[in-house]
Amino acid sequence: MAPDVQPPSGQSAAIGLCASCQHRREVHNTRGSVFHLCERSREDPAYPRYPRLPVLRCAGYERTAR
Ligand code: SF4
Repeated sequence: MAPDVQPPSGQSAAIGLCASCQHRREVHNTRGSVFHLCERSREDPAYPRYPRLPVLRCAGYERTAR
């Protein structure tokens, strides 16, 4: 079951939970676009490499330490 987490608001709302997840890594291409890679996808095929955004529920979510 997914953890009970509120999606972020404001600018991060377009990204959803990934915005504050420690498993997200930003990937920038040469044209200035930014993609959000889920590093859980490296070891678990249940997670897409590039999740469809915004992610509103995710069993793998773990908040970044700040
Ligand atoms: S584990 Fe879930 S919330 Fe975290 S980066 Fe991957 S898809 Fe996003």
